[in-house]
Amino acid sequence: MNETPMRVYAEIDLDAVRENVRALRARAPRAQLMAVVKSNAYGHGAVPCARAAQEAGATWLGTATPEEALALRAAGIEGRVMCWLWTPGGPWREAIEADIDVSVSGMWALDEVREAARAAGRTARIQLKADTGLGRNGCQPADWAELVGAAVAAQAEGTVQVTGVWSHFACADEPGHPSIRLQLEAFRDMLAYAEKEGVDPEVRHIANSPATLTLPESHYDLVRTGLAVYGVSPAPELGTPAQLGLRPAMRLKASLALVKSVPAGHGVSYGHHYVTEAETHLALVPAGYADGLPRCASGRGPVLVGGKVRRAAGRIAMDQFVVDLGEDLAEPGDEAVVFGDAERGEPTAEDWAQAAHTIAYEIVTRIGGRVPRVYL
Ligand code: PLP
Repeated sequence: MNETPMRVYAEIDLDAVRENVRALRARAPRAQLMAVVKSNAYGHGAVPCARAAQEAGATWLGTATPEEALALRAAGIEGRVMCWLWTPGGPWREAIEADIDVSVSGMWALDEVREAARAAGRTARIQLKADTGLGRNGCQPADWAELVGAAVAAQAEGTVQVTGVWSHFACADEPGHPSIRLQLEAFRDMLAYAEKEGVDPEVRHIANSPATLTLPESHYDLVRTGLAVYGVSPAPELGTPAQLGLRPAMRLKASLALVKSVPAGHGVSYGHHYVTEAETHLALVPAGYADGLPRCASGRGPVLVGGKVRRAAGRIAMDQFVVDLGEDLAEPGDEAVVFGDAERGEPTAEDWAQAAHTIAYEIVTRIGGRVPRVYL
């Protein structure tokens, strides 16, 4: 670890990543596991997390963009990698040459990948994405026959090999939501159609973290887990990380920048939304919304200082926020844990999500580029 005390930094426990991958594999024993490492592994660092996940048995890595997938290869990461968010003119040829499985949601993408495969003199590994009800990316059931037919023809000419058929849930984080059953049925039907037409996929997959944790019938050949790999609960209703057998991999820590006494009636931070009730001690936590802490958690965002969880007093600013220590004392340089592991009495990413009226995915993913990651 860097000897220079750091203003704010994210400790990333790669053992936690490994343990979480093992725990998830135990939840889906007949499926392979894809560790989703898009968005810099949800803020945890794509390359170290990808390696840790592979060490624990993840046989696939998943990214949104082709650039993210290519960056894994550039870092020397081997094994199966898939990416799914393509726009016209994307780096198909580079992806094919880097042995990356590419997702195809429609005819334009199939045309481009065929062309790129011809130019490269290679066979592209493609995975057909079905929109079974998410209403986002993926091929609509009404267009599926055309896409499958064209993919089978491309397979016959040798430009593509269909390695996967896959889909994504809309409401897996709400167990019992009626759309879950409907999506599973649509997936079964679209898959059966593709197989009848001659597609023989190596992997069929639809389960994200919440489905992996709650819906064994969705596991198929592969589960695509993101958030749970990092030890964060996908939704409060599903339980805490500990209840799910997971351990948070990220601990966001800061070093107090200032501690001072102020009299009663002192306004704190922009807008004076907090005013001290009595003479008190204020501590300055040098992390703010430029580091990824949501400003809308002002007045509510928790932080552990001196063994107690305290709330941001007043507005969270770009680089700093204040906590009211009351009669307690602290020293500049003392540790503040913005979030970490509830099992250690620390606030969590889930707590910050609740304070900001958002989801924990957004809290960890937004931890900014100027926050150093320190790997344990
Ligand atoms: N699959 C796709 C297509 C995704 O976009 C994501 C993330 O949003 C995942 C899998 C992983 O989801 P989760 O983080 O809930 O496991």
